[in-house]
Amino acid sequence: QAKQDGRSCARFFEPEMDRQLRERRQLEQKLRDAVQFQRFTLHFQPLIKSDSRQVCAFEALLRWQDPELGLILPDRFIPLAEETGLIRPIGDWVLIEACRQAQLWPSDIRVAVNVSPVQFRTGRVPESVARAIYSSGLEPSRLEIEITESVLLSDDSNTLDQLNEIKELGVRVVLDDFGTGYSSLSYLRRFAFDKLKMDKSFVQEIHESGVLAIVRTVAKLGECLGIETTAEGIETEEQARCVREEGFTQIQGYLYGKPLPAEELDTAFQLGQYHSAAVLPLAPPDS
Ligand code: C2E
Ligand code: MG
Ligand code: MG
Ligand code: MG
Repeated sequence: QAKQDGRSCARFFEPEMDRQLRERRQLEQKLRDAVQFQRFTLHFQPLIKSDSRQVCAFEALLRWQDPELGLILPDRFIPLAEETGLIRPIGDWVLIEACRQAQLWPSDIRVAVNVSPVQFRTGRVPESVARAIYSSGLEPSRLEIEITESVLLSDDSNTLDQLNEIKELGVRVVLDDFGTGYSSLSYLRRFAFDKLKMDKSFVQEIHESGVLAIVRTVAKLGECLGIETTAEGIETEEQARCVREEGFTQIQGYLYGKPLPAEELDTAFQLGQYHSAAVLPLAPPDS
């Protein structure tokens, strides 16, 4: 009986692995097409200042529109883009497009761009950042580069050099998904980040024992370092009140706005009850 089970398992797994491999190759080919035919767009999600409750930035979030598969979210294709090296042309496009859009917004609103560790490891990010700034004319201090601590996992000074060069351009560098990695605190010593973004899992599990203490400590850590702190993944009023009370300087989440195409940002603002009308309009200035 057991032997039979084993065989049926093998019979089940082989075609299954085969299918997965085929699907991966298909997706890879589609991703190459997407790069060639420009099938990416950016959605933008607001970051709200805790004290004034005004929008202070938008995070650019990559979307892939495939003619057959429809809208594909980054978690499904960023890993593949990283494995295939396609993340470099894609990442360069994201930087240029995000800066181009931000240049159309009021000048006190920043744009945040996610950059993959693979972009640092296999290429030079400062040059890509500089190109995006110069081609758009965006004030460098209005750009924030979001990286996860896995960027600094290897003890490689090259990445650290690149981060310092990015800062020298006047661009801000933010530690994203803070708290989910291995030894966050040591990274804080190695590089002077401009902001900590606490991973959304903490907010989602804030009622579990001990989590509030961590949330409080992250806010305090940012305060002691003299840098900003963002709580992301805020979906309810209660969560918003809590992280504001704990001292997070910025809040981001569906409560204030889902990621939207650039053209729809306007409307989203009008609907949101926490947004100051003062940050409007987002339409391109008359030229
Ligand atoms: P991230 O940078 O931590 O971005 C936050 C993610 O949380 C986004 O998912 C956003 O849509 C989602 N989110 C925002 N508010 C809420 C909320 O209130 N509740 C919940 N449940 N989720 C919320 P998204 O857009 O699917 O992106 C996932 C990840 O993909 C990002 O995580 C980032 O690491 C990566 N990514 C996105 N765009 C790019 C890009 O242009 N380049 C690179 N390298 N990575 C990107
Ligand atoms: Mg991010
Ligand atoms: Mg994050
Ligand atoms: Mg992330």
